[in-house]
Amino acid sequence: MNENCIFCKIINGDIPCAMIYQDEETFAFLDINPINDGHTLIIPKHHHENIFSTPSDIFAKMAITAQKIAKRQKEILGADGINIGMNNEPDAGQVVFHAHIHVMPRFKNDGYDLWKGKTYKEGEIEKIQNKLKF
Ligand code: 5GP
Ligand code: ZN
Repeated sequence: MNENCIFCKIINGDIPCAMIYQDEETFAFLDINPINDGHTLIIPKHHHENIFSTPSDIFAKMAITAQKIAKRQKEILGADGINIGMNNEPDAGQVVFHAHIHVMPRFKNDGYDLWKGKTYKEGEIEKIQNKLKF
């Protein structure tokens, strides 16, 4: 429990939320400002800031819960598609610093676009590949 964390307060029951699923390690509740009805946040029950500090086994459990919620949104809400997202660090849009995965139901013609891709210049993709590959 991190005293200054809004999501820790939610798990603790100090702030109300619309919870839809929980298990030993994870907790899922409706985002208060949804992109579409049913937009859900999956969080670990213990406080970890983001993907970098979340233990792998806990992240794996968050992913399993995210899949469960995605299937539920499709089945119950009739979602035509699902976006999964996670913002890590302020420059990537993270506002709440308790790790969370967004599971967002999408509907035909709901008006949202994905971000636009750019193109690599000649030879650049190989340079980046060489930097990144394990
Ligand atoms: P991010 O940190 O990935 O940018 O997003 C944080 C998300 O948490 C936002 O989509 C925001 O609407 C949601 N959020 C922030 N505060 C609360 C809250 O008190 N309750 C709920 N249910 N969602 C919240
Ligand atoms: Zn927290």
